[in-house]
Amino acid sequence: MVNEAHPVLTGPALWSAQAHMPSVLGRQIIIERAQGSYVFTADGQRLFDGTAGLWHANVGHSRPELAEAAYTQMQRVETYHIFGRYLNDRAVELGEVLAGLSPIANPKVILNSGGSDAIDVACKLARRHWQAEGRRTKTAILSREFAYHGLHAYGTSIAGLQFNRDGYGTESLVPETARVSAYDINAVEQTVLEIGASNIAAIVAEPIQGTGGVNPPLPGYLEGLQRICRENDILLIADEVITGFGRMGEMFATERYGLQPDLITFAKGITSGYAPLGGVLVSPRVWERFYRDTDETPVFRHGATYAGHATACAVALRHLDLLEEEKLLPRVKELEGALTEGLKSLDGLAGVAETRVAGLLGGISLREDLSAEALTDALIKDGFITRPLRGNTVQVSPPFITTNEELRELVGAIEAAVVAQH
Ligand code: PLP
Repeated sequence: MVNEAHPVLTGPALWSAQAHMPSVLGRQIIIERAQGSYVFTADGQRLFDGTAGLWHANVGHSRPELAEAAYTQMQRVETYHIFGRYLNDRAVELGEVLAGLSPIANPKVILNSGGSDAIDVACKLARRHWQAEGRRTKTAILSREFAYHGLHAYGTSIAGLQFNRDGYGTESLVPETARVSAYDINAVEQTVLEIGASNIAAIVAEPIQGTGGVNPPLPGYLEGLQRICRENDILLIADEVITGFGRMGEMFATERYGLQPDLITFAKGITSGYAPLGGVLVSPRVWERFYRDTDETPVFRHGATYAGHATACAVALRHLDLLEEEKLLPRVKELEGALTEGLKSLDGLAGVAETRVAGLLGGISLREDLSAEALTDALIKDGFITRPLRGNTVQVSPPFITTNEELRELVGAIEAAVVAQH
């Protein structure tokens, strides 16, 4: 029955992702085309993509090199699945390239369709590992407060942003998950003690929390996490879906922080979003049991039609070449310096509580008298895409091809919007 007091709103048939529909209907922004660091809307506006979409468009939009790679591959073979005895040559080739880039020595590579997928795989594999080891009580997956790990079953269940966990029943979708402190390593140790290491399969952590507000780790935190995992025989899963493939100026954030995780999840930056692709780098400690030549060797029962999709892999291979050819990782390091300087200049403004930068990831936390939501809305009108995050924070994560001039314009626009709103 239609509720007379609150009529049902209408709009496109397409249901938006992660949206409070009454709030977005009538003000949706439809992107029609894009070029480099700019997108163009259906109503004719040109916007600087200050977030690189959802932290993904690292090499910029609409690159002909990547369109060409997809076109060529689709004419050869669009894809062939990788179940059982079958493989396709592009997925095999990408596996070798990723094994060469991996901060985990001698890894195996699992490929799938994106970050949420990768998290499901990593968590399932962590649990499967301990079952195969005969340590059947080691099932709990721990994650950090304010964490975002996508929205599939595990991502929903281990979300540190409570609103992403709520509403699916009396427990989380997947049982046996728990949150640990995002900042206080002693508190993490305490939680591990309370749950008991014999019940814990893995701890999952974004090296830098993205959606939780662009929070670089406090000094010693990640090292502490690594130590706790080692001492307690717990697998460490580094979620590098945002940070992987250059956003830190290194291939992986794991390298910057000297971590040695057992599993690394990746997605977005492997293709800059030109094809849906993600995956997991798996350490020998985990894969070895699944490769033994015995009748008792277990099967990791996971896969999907599009796992190792040949066209996505062909795009990834060309994309990884582009990162190299255009020296985009050293460029990220330069841009990190420019962004740090730029955001520092906002620090003194009335209304700005704190700014944070790590790699080409920036967060501007506002005081209570300003709203990140209102500020990002105002910036759209001025021609700049930014995004409101937890903690009244504005996200800045432009493409790697951003020029110094464009970065200055972006920071200048934010400054002007803060001043105007205050
Ligand atoms: N993990 C992290 C750290 C993310 O930031 C995201 C997406 O933003 C995901 C996982 C999920 O990735 P996807 O949206 O490709 O499923």
